[in-house]
Order: sequence, then C-alpha cells, then structure tokens
Amino acid sequence: MLEDFKLIQPIAYKTLKNTLKKQHFAHAYLIETNGYDLADRFTMAFAKLLLCPHNGQADCQSCLQCRMIDDGNFPELKIINPDGSWIKKEQLTELQDEFSKKSIIGNKKVYIINKAEKLNINSANTILKFLEEPPEGIVAILTTDNIYQLIDTIVSRCQIISLNGQADLDNKSTFEKIGQLITNNDNDYQNYLVDSNKDKLEAILKFVSFYETYHKKILLHMQDYWFNYFTDKEVIADALLIIIYLYKDILNWKINCDVLIFNDYMEQIEKIATSNSVENLINKIVIINENRNFLENNANLNLLMDKIIIDLEEGVK
Ligand SMILES: [Zn+2]
Repeated sequence: MLEDFKLIQPIAYKTLKNTLKKQHFAHAYLIETNGYDLADRFTMAFAKLLLCPHNGQADCQSCLQCRMIDDGNFPELKIINPDGSWIKKEQLTELQDEFSKKSIIGNKKVYIINKAEKLNINSANTILKFLEEPPEGIVAILTTDNIYQLIDTIVSRCQIISLNGQADLDNKSTFEKIGQLITNNDNDYQNYLVDSNKDKLEAILKFVSFYETYHKKILLHMQDYWFNYFTDKEVIADALLIIIYLYKDILNWKINCDVLIFNDYMEQIEKIATSNSVENLINKIVIINENRNFLENNANLNLLMDKIIIDLEEGVK
C-alpha cells in the first residue's frame, strides 16, 4: 500500500496523497524510477489507490478489487511489459481494443506501461494517440528508468512523479546497475549477471573510449571493437542503451551532478567529459537515441553503426 512509501519516498507519497484528497486525477502519469528497486511495488500501490473503492488504504486488506489486483486478474487493470527489447505496437493495440469496452467493475480503468523507454517509434505513436484523446475514466501510468529516452510529446502529456532511487543504487557495481536498468524482471536480472555480459560492458567502454580518441578512424575497426561482441538487433539495442547511459553520466559529471551508474569507470568519464562540451554530450545522446529507434526496422546493422559514427562526427561540432 501507498503508506509503505511514506518515509522512503516522501515527495512521491505526498504528491499522490494530495491528488487523492482533491480527487483530481491526471489522465496520464509518468513514474521516473531512477533505478529505485521497489518501483514496481510503488506503481501497484498507485494503481490500487485509483481502483480500490477504499483507495488501497491501510484499512483495506481484502476488498474484492485489491485481491483481484494482487492475483493479477482484475479486468480493469492492464500491465504491459516490454516484449524483449521493445514494447511492440501490437501489445498496445490489443490494450486499446480491450479498454474500448465498458468497465465491468467500478468506473475506472488503469493501464501500466513498464519501461516506457522501450517504446519504439511505432508503439510510441500508437500510445501517443491514446494519450492525446484519453477516453473517459482511463488512467495511464507509464514508468521509465530513463526519461531522456522518451519522446517529448509523451513526457509533456504526463504528470511526472519522480522516485528517489539513489539509496538503493549506491552500493551496487556499475555492472549490477546496468543489469537492473536493462532487464525487465528479477529473473532476467539474475540471468544477466554472467561474465559474458560483463565482457560486453567492458567492450562498450573500450568502444566509446576508442571513438572519443580516434573519432572517424573507428570505422576501420568496427569488427574488432563492435561486431565481435554485438551481432543481433536485440543485443545492439541494449548496447546502445548502455552507451546512452554512459554519455548521460559523462554529462552528469560535466555539470557537477552525481555520476549515477558508471562510478566504476571514473577515469574514462573524466577524460571524455574534459574533451566534450555540454552541448556535444547532449547532441551525442540525442543522435544515438534517434538511431537506436531505427534499429527495429533496419536490416543492415553494419550500415546503421557506420551511420551512428558519421552522425556523431557531423552532428557534433
Ligand atoms: Zn481495496
């Protein structure tokens, strides 16, 4: 229940409490998890607040709605998780079909889209239409680990609730943090923690360091520095995501904010931060993210990677 978060997430807690008090709900919320490891539980507490006739309060332990929500069979709550590297358009059209029917229980419907940064261009457009003309009584809750990866038009339509993730990330290694950010559930996370993925992370650091030193010349070494480690689309999608996180941390260092994820690689962070302007770093994040969005529809991975390097060189003056 929401009360569980009173002390650990005081700001988010208060925001939702006030919303409840005023009975003024937005059509769409975006929960920025910041890597908080109980973000899923927070999201479910929020869904109960919206759907339970007692707002999922402390005294409501066993109402029909709450029990059905806990069992995962409450018809007016749909939860969408990424299917692999992406949230697919079909997952969202299915949701919209189901939600176009009248509520069976209560007068509200809620859908949760976890890891909304994994919306691709097609699925983002689908959800955008839903967010632009929200049907009566439907509330959207999107969650994201990386708000910078969502298109602005989605972010601007949501009320943002930012969770404090620092405390839980602080004592983890960069590798573990990356695992938490790119996997979709605890099981996937446990499977992620193997040496081959650690090697991939090291390869990403080497790739970026080489690029930052030799720029376009890396095009002659793409096999050694990239394709020996990353071959299929899903793996490349994750690797590009990790590079985006890396540049975000370099940007953090540059603007005197905390390095959130790549604290095990401070030497590289400082070096790259020194040779880039703030504007350069922001451009790089945008360029990599734009190209990553084309990945799903792009058959030639060699060309795509070359294009990223060329765009980075041309876009960053
Ligand atoms: Zn209840």
